[in-house]
Amino acid sequence: MGLLDDRTAVITGAAQGIGLEIARRFLAEGARVVLGDINGEAAEKSAAELAAAHAGGVALGARCDVTAEDEVDALVRRAEQEFGTVDVMVNNAGITRDATMRKMTLADFRAVLDVHLVGSWLGTRAAGAVMRERKRGSIINISSISGKVGMLGQTNYSSAKAGMVGLTKAAAKELAYLGVRVNAIQPGLIRTAMTEALREDIWAAKLAEIPMARAAEPAEVAGVALFLASELSSYMTGTVLEVTGGRYM
Ligand code: NAP
Repeated sequence: MGLLDDRTAVITGAAQGIGLEIARRFLAEGARVVLGDINGEAAEKSAAELAAAHAGGVALGARCDVTAEDEVDALVRRAEQEFGTVDVMVNNAGITRDATMRKMTLADFRAVLDVHLVGSWLGTRAAGAVMRERKRGSIINISSISGKVGMLGQTNYSSAKAGMVGLTKAAAKELAYLGVRVNAIQPGLIRTAMTEALREDIWAAKLAEIPMARAAEPAEVAGVALFLASELSSYMTGTVLEVTGGRYM
């Protein structure tokens, strides 16, 4: 018995990093997983590897640029067509374009808002439309602790991640009476491609702020996503769970 037996989950930006670990964990708990990513080939490869590693596991990869309305709608529709339903949607795709405002271009600001905030809205809208018909579903938006505290050099990213909290709460109110829950996760410092490029001194400064004195592995975010996806959190909606090792509590 898995926590997500007979459920279908769609995860964006899932070719690698946190999204891939979420897909891996969901699959291990019995879900059929659909991995979307702007790099379609990488999504297909990751899905094939996941399926091969889990006997009987069903994983499908497809290209999906979350900034494109038709591609997000198509990803959710594909999951519904292949598996008959969408029970869990994880809006995870992300990019960074860090710079202080002195150097940040409007294009860098808009690009980050587009991927995180507009992309999550598109995913929430598409999945919500399917879930409301079935009176069941869990939508999980991967925000960031940057959206709670604001980070230097991240006016774009912090704005987008804070916006995702507003989106989560407003959508939770719209969908609650239909049996659809919407929650957010705010990870802190997680070891992925997004953070491995950080300068050593910046990495050390971040570690010094973390009571648990270490970064997290992507699997530690995936465990919280599993909790929100499953019936373990059946009476939770509109919440924001911090996965930060105690940083900025
Ligand atoms: P990652 O390893 O860079 O993975 C992000 C994935 O999203 C990549 O495969 C990326 O593809 C893909 N992507 C980028 N733009 C896309 C688009 N328009 N449509 C679809 N997919 C797109 O990063 P991660 O660390 O796992 O981050 C996952 C999420 O967690 C993000 O929302 C991030 O903001 C959030 N988060 C991460 C941390 C952390 O410390 N790592 C902390 C807080 C929050 P390409 O590689 O081809 O661009």
